[in-house]
Amino acid sequence: MIGIPVRSDEQIECMRKCNARLGIMLDELTDMVRPGVTTAYLNDEAEKLIEKLGCKPNFKGYEGFPAAICASVNEEVVHGIPSKNRILKEGDILSIDAGMVLDGCHSDAARTVGVGEISPECRKLISHTRSAFFAAMKAARAGGRLYDISNAIASYIDGTGESYGIVRELTGHGIGTEMHEKPMIPNYHKSVRGPRLKAGNTLAIEPMITMAGPEIEILEDNWTVVTSDGSWAAHYENTILITGDEPEILSMGDKEKELGYE
Ligand code: MG
Repeated sequence: MIGIPVRSDEQIECMRKCNARLGIMLDELTDMVRPGVTTAYLNDEAEKLIEKLGCKPNFKGYEGFPAAICASVNEEVVHGIPSKNRILKEGDILSIDAGMVLDGCHSDAARTVGVGEISPECRKLISHTRSAFFAAMKAARAGGRLYDISNAIASYIDGTGESYGIVRELTGHGIGTEMHEKPMIPNYHKSVRGPRLKAGNTLAIEPMITMAGPEIEILEDNWTVVTSDGSWAAHYENTILITGDEPEILSMGDKEKELGYE
């Protein structure tokens, strides 16, 4: 099996910088989410922030994707195209996924946030999806194995006692000089442990969790991924650096850090 790339010190420094800026961008952007704003407005604001931070959006133009962020509402899981016709309303949940590039180094992260007051069920889904990521951080160690991360996410979700679905067709991924690199990192149980993790691996870990079934469809726009059963979904993602000890989570801004690491 081919090993996962180990980044040079220089690349790691660059990824730290790029991802830290993405963390700032997402902190600021998620503050702008409220009833009445459109997802196109949020995309415009994201583009301005990314430029102000001295980076470029790596989503825009990626396989033809037309925007700097993916904005996925309610039953949309990921890859929603921002639109001036999509007006957020009280009680919606919005997943914002974004990435930036700086000096050839990539960042990628996602948050799901409530629009105004949301239902307790939605709050719980968002919180469990975030916690699944942090459960995986306990398994993300040099000397461990890649699918220990997958199994940690799946075990966390199983342990919630909720009848959630784990999306299987979409996965986390390696990230570095490209936004999407090998290996794929599933969020479900694997029967093998996979390649060994080494200090200097950089990965994007991103659980995508639904309120019910795990099946997904792609809408006619060829991008938007929705749940087949219409159940609502949450997404949480950060770019991380594997070390001998706890992984460094590169893409959390101060506001996100205040929410804690569990
Ligand atoms: Mg990603």
